[in-house]
Amino acid sequence: MFEVDARFLASERKEFEDNWQSKVSAWAERVYECFKLKGNLAYIPRIYVTPFYAYDESPMRLNIGGSVRTAKYVVRQVATTSVDAENPEEKWAIYILYNLIKIATPKTNTANIAHELLHYYHRPRKPMALTLQEFSSMVGKSEVEIYYMKEREVKQAEDFFEEPVRSMILDMEKEKSQLGTGKKYTEGAEEVKGSEFLGRVLGEQRARDFLDKLLRHSPELT
Ligand SMILES: [Zn+2]
Repeated sequence: MFEVDARFLASERKEFEDNWQSKVSAWAERVYECFKLKGNLAYIPRIYVTPFYAYDESPMRLNIGGSVRTAKYVVRQVATTSVDAENPEEKWAIYILYNLIKIATPKTNTANIAHELLHYYHRPRKPMALTLQEFSSMVGKSEVEIYYMKEREVKQAEDFFEEPVRSMILDMEKEKSQLGTGKKYTEGAEEVKGSEFLGRVLGEQRARDFLDKLLRHSPELT
């Protein structure tokens, strides 16, 4: 039922299709079966497997005993929900880093798909239907802040899934709270800035056209 698409993988594509594609489909099917709100989904989002992931950082100023130190806070998104590369105006899709699929356990992978399916559930039905309210909630915020805003939508994701997926989500959250988890899965993978993710997925020209059209749909924005 889930379409798993490996078009972004280039040289690793065959290896993925031979060894992993059916596993990813099976994990996704299990997630869907356990999703309590599946009756409300307009469609099943496509899953893209990618060699790249979105990376953002935010500077921090720490005042420690009167001496100011600077540091940076880093967010590595090993999976994300964004517009569908095939049909960006009408559909959303889930993007998962191939490294995660290879390195993480089947349980973590299943929980990760569940987390993203819930993000998709919270998006407006069509990407083009982003409301002014949604736009304005992002004004002036950094990519890291927007990331945490979206994460609040999927807080307690476990409540929306039956067992065994429920426990898998709880275990994944525990793992995520440990330092270095993101780094472990992203070692050697291509890093794309969050703001450039759309261009990487759609191609620069299509991404520009898409954003132009999106802005035209919202007359208050220029
Ligand atoms: Zn998330």
